Amino acid sequence: MSVFPQLSMKSEVREHLCNVYPRKEGLSELDKDEVFEALLSCLSHPPLFTCLRASTHLHPLQEIQHRLEQHLEQQKQAPAVYTHPQLPDVLLLPVHGPRHVDLLASEVIVGAQCGNAVLRGAHVFTPGILSTPKYMKVGDIVSVFSDVEGKCTRGAKEFKGKKVFLGNGISEVDRSELFCSDGPTKGVAIRMTEPLYQSPSFDGVLTDEVFLQNLPSVVVGHVLGPRPGERILDMCAAPGGKTTHIASLMGNQGTVVALDKIRSKMEKIIQNAKMLKLDCIKAYCCNSIHAVSADPAQEYSADGPPYPEESYDRILLDAPCSGLGQRPNMTYSWSLKEVCSYQPLQRKLLTTAVRLLKQGGVLVYSTCTVTLAENEEQVAWVLKTFPCLTLEPQVPHLGSEGMQGAGLSCDQRRLLQRFRPELAWRGARFSQSPESFLQNANTDTIGFFIAKFIKNEGAVIKVTGHSKDDSSESKENQAADATARGAAKQTEGTVSLMSLSPQEEEIQCCVICS
Ligand code: SAM
Repeated sequence: MSVFPQLSMKSEVREHLCNVYPRKEGLSELDKDEVFEALLSCLSHPPLFTCLRASTHLHPLQEIQHRLEQHLEQQKQAPAVYTHPQLPDVLLLPVHGPRHVDLLASEVIVGAQCGNAVLRGAHVFTPGILSTPKYMKVGDIVSVFSDVEGKCTRGAKEFKGKKVFLGNGISEVDRSELFCSDGPTKGVAIRMTEPLYQSPSFDGVLTDEVFLQNLPSVVVGHVLGPRPGERILDMCAAPGGKTTHIASLMGNQGTVVALDKIRSKMEKIIQNAKMLKLDCIKAYCCNSIHAVSADPAQEYSADGPPYPEESYDRILLDAPCSGLGQRPNMTYSWSLKEVCSYQPLQRKLLTTAVRLLKQGGVLVYSTCTVTLAENEEQVAWVLKTFPCLTLEPQVPHLGSEGMQGAGLSCDQRRLLQRFRPELAWRGARFSQSPESFLQNANTDTIGFFIAKFIKNEGAVIKVTGHSKDDSSESKENQAADATARGAAKQTEGTVSLMSLSPQEEEIQCCVICS
């Protein structure tokens, strides 16, 4: 049953996206339109399960599983925690929903990003609230709605616009404390007691033992295959979900350099590294396009970028992207120009990555979007531009193969990994038996793409220099993240969206953060 409206977007973006889905593309029974409609429907719903990455560098998986089950039992929640057959550090919890929940007379409206986090198990945090009943008091039971189109005025006492019901909760604040300059700016405002989609809240729970991460993001770390003692670069690292996974897979031995262009996000990488007790991570604020030294005689410095060519064993480029694979999401407001602005930026970052990679080294490129331009077309471009790179098989390979339409051969597409939740979506949720749940764990995910390359020995790279036009860097920086908008952090790795001044854009390597 589809309880929410399909993901809505500008018609130009819808048309563009629809063209990505070639007729009968590898699917016998579904045609292009059905697949595309299924994509829009499933994107507005949360995935079928919550995925937690366990800190196996600190404790064995079973111990962590046991402690999590105990915690859930104490919270009077069903302690169904499953291990994943192919991912040795993943715990899966079924998301129950959509459940029947009765609507109440008192309505609280939250922002769309806060609402998305609620659908993944978060409570409503104070900054996420837009409107409450006039006399709302601590202890009131209220129905919570998401303002999916961003039309509700902050501080309103009612809202008649388009809203989507998320479930019921109990207020932990009086209205008089909200919307005033000296009121609380953080903390839980509505504790969700009857969410439409039920999944435990992990705010402050076993913080050094489990990390909330989408399943394809965990796959990325394994595909990169880091080994203890190596030098690894994570070029677009904040908030550090994949960085900390890489460090954990290395048993905290070696060096993981984490770069991110946005200074305010460096703190999050450092916090996550500390929380997970990983001290082999070094984080620097840096526009990664400029992370390679122009001076061939430059020696590797432990103090941050720029780095000499061929100085990394493995590189992850989890690229800034149009983010169209994120779930749940009910409104995508970007224009086609904004969506298309990522391809050139990603190519610049890919060029730097190839230069920084040692011969014989591994480059993994990933995005959380569904467009051909940011995924298969980028792979075709890399193979043409850098003949020294070849595609490598991915282990584990849990997703589908790459899509047609970018000129890649069948063999090449088979080496790619695309997570396509629409293929498992038939307008109905799956039955919740453990067996069928686990069967669908690899498909009912966010939309995601992974390519793995190896740099051949004896490679020579000619780079003619970057264009000064970095305008393409702009669009990844436009929305505040969910935490800032008032939901508990219950989603990982959202594309960060803040704008930078031209001076900041030019900063190459400024702050040594650890
Ligand atoms: N890998 C992260 C994780 O797993 O937690 C998520 C990364 S998110 C998809 C992309 C990141 O790229 C954002 O944090 C953004 O600030 C950063 N970014 C965008 N342009 C960049 C650039 N030119 N150099 C470095 N980082 C950049």
